[in-house]
Amino acid sequence: MKLVSACLAGVKCRYDGSAKPCQKVMDLVEKGDAILVCPEQLGGLSTPRIASEQKGNKVFNKEGKELTKEFERGAQEALSIAKMAGCKEAILKSKSPSCGVGMVYDGSFSGKLIKGDGVFAKLLKTNKIKVLTEEDI
Ligand code: SF4
Repeated sequence: MKLVSACLAGVKCRYDGSAKPCQKVMDLVEKGDAILVCPEQLGGLSTPRIASEQKGNKVFNKEGKELTKEFERGAQEALSIAKMAGCKEAILKSKSPSCGVGMVYDGSFSGKLIKGDGVFAKLLKTNKIKVLTEEDI
């Protein structure tokens, strides 16, 4: 069983109320081989919501409000779901402050990418769950 970012499966859970459907991810869900989570929604954030980026180990939205606790709570909830379902691998949305793997935005809201993982991707790695993005599959 794989864990996938809900927005890749077509759920309109992104900050701007849109989805980022990825056919390969949708096929996995349809076959019953994947379960989907949106860590930001699981952290109690609304949809749509103001865009957020990581700055160091913290997360702020574009208006400067710190949302680190919400992101961490959502990541923990999504990890619990992954463990309940026995997931050993996750396919996550690239560049997201929660789900991004390898590259994330730098916190300046200028579209600049830096090396790093989203809050949820980092937690999955710590828990020995393999993380990939839709760009890797
Ligand atoms: Fe998609 Fe992850 Fe962002 Fe939710 S938190 S919208 S699943 S990238």
